[in-house]
Amino acid sequence: MAYYIFVAGGVMSSVGKGAATASIGKILQGKGFRVSAIKIDPYINVDAGTMNPIEHGETFVTNDGTECDQDVGNYERFLNINLSTDNYMTTGRIYQAVIQKERNLEFNGRCVEVVPDIPNEVISRIEKVAKKDKADFVMIEIGGTVGEYQNLLFLEAARMMKLKYPKKVLFTLVTYLPTIKTIGEMKTKPTQTSSRLLNEAGIQPDFILGRASVPLDEPRKRKISIFCNLDPKDVISAPDVDSIYEIPINYEREGLGDRILKKLKLRAKTRDMEEWDKMVDTIKKEKKDIRIGIVGKYFESGEFSLTDSYISVIEAVKHAAWANNRNPDIHWLSAQKFETGDKNELSKLKEYDGIIVPGGFGTRGTEGKIKVIEYCRKNKIPFLGLCLGLQLATIEFARNVCGIKDATSREFDANAKNPVIDLMEEQKDLMKKHNYGGTMRLGTWDCKINKGTNSFKAYKSELVSERHRHRYEVNNDYRDLLVSKGLVIGGINEKKDLVEIIELKDHPFFVAVQFHPELKSRPLVPHPLFKEFIKAAGNKKPEA
Ligand code: GLN
Repeated sequence: MAYYIFVAGGVMSSVGKGAATASIGKILQGKGFRVSAIKIDPYINVDAGTMNPIEHGETFVTNDGTECDQDVGNYERFLNINLSTDNYMTTGRIYQAVIQKERNLEFNGRCVEVVPDIPNEVISRIEKVAKKDKADFVMIEIGGTVGEYQNLLFLEAARMMKLKYPKKVLFTLVTYLPTIKTIGEMKTKPTQTSSRLLNEAGIQPDFILGRASVPLDEPRKRKISIFCNLDPKDVISAPDVDSIYEIPINYEREGLGDRILKKLKLRAKTRDMEEWDKMVDTIKKEKKDIRIGIVGKYFESGEFSLTDSYISVIEAVKHAAWANNRNPDIHWLSAQKFETGDKNELSKLKEYDGIIVPGGFGTRGTEGKIKVIEYCRKNKIPFLGLCLGLQLATIEFARNVCGIKDATSREFDANAKNPVIDLMEEQKDLMKKHNYGGTMRLGTWDCKINKGTNSFKAYKSELVSERHRHRYEVNNDYRDLLVSKGLVIGGINEKKDLVEIIELKDHPFFVAVQFHPELKSRPLVPHPLFKEFIKAAGNKKPEA
């Protein structure tokens, strides 16, 4: 029988509920428990696949091809587990399932109601995860902020879950404590109000995690304790940190893990955070920088949104840098700046140890990225292309090495004469029917690695499986020509005969992949391709 810990957020969004949820899971893992996690998103979208990354951040993809919220990525990275469609819920998904059951006469002719039928569907899905993942603990993060309309039904589900399992459910409220500069005092009132709003939903928080720029002091903890009706020991200080991977260590310092076990009358099976602690020590240690440029779009929305849109790529770079005993120094390079092929602009690329062209959709910025790729190819700058990055590297090679001047992707030109990147047949039908949601090539696909390549050197394996999310592919009609001109096929999917990796010879590291290796990188298990890329970048001579 599992225990359930719900995590809700108060005061405002972006307080770091995802990292908090993952971190609580991590400390429970450290005490020897099996942990799983669920993200609940209150929006109507059935999944995160149809949402713009500027608005919602990166779309994370699980092994089974679920397009979900980036927090699921946080859970996988912290807990080093693989999650699936069951670990993700949205209002849209829940309603869709309940309505389908009604159509199937599964409610035996009775009136189907918002309460309790919607919360019951939520509860049964949570129980399913506990069973399927054989979890001792299921962490459940409720998206949104308490007090808004959107997530009310999920709070209702949490309340009903406590009624069902009174001794097995805990609630955590993550809030924010602002410090007004001119007064210099950290204010607890918004936290008090949020806690009351949670009370209104019938829930008393067992823990309050107080996010703030600095640690909470004793008077603040006491005040929250009195007004929010909980022991001061259960008010946990959660100050800003340099690296999110420090959070579990901070929580442990505050005694959160033992407080959880005490409330549930459980005993730790082990006490082992050694590997994690060691990793965090490496992060904090003085190290030589590795300068990585990521060429992307979404720049107009600011640094915060950029980090959100490319979070898995950034984390994968960090993991690999730490594994190479380097300090990741990531720079954003706007693709549009390179569009005109301005030599001055392009020569600045030499300042970086390595360049990444990540995934993306649509035409904007692609010509600039192609110019960057050409520069990296010719100037031997270590290069890693991800998904769209592979497609653009193929186009660049076709245009500038094979002499197909109008080579392009069908995505950018529906009437392309030379679509070296093209839609697969089954995708054509889907697009005609406007059937866009959840219909890309998604989830894990096998990739057979060719020996003697950089990819083989990285993976040290002939068969790997990686996660995908794209519609377009290298057009096999051009494959022989590309290869005859020197393009190396690093790996293919044998079943469908699809190009999955391309590389260049006579280059320190030029690898582009049709999949998203960043989605599988974990701080304790950095991705082999990123590790090899950073290694090559580390060997680049300054201003090579
Ligand atoms: N837009 C490209 C496609 O759909 C690449 C997608 C991606 O980079 N994830 O195939």
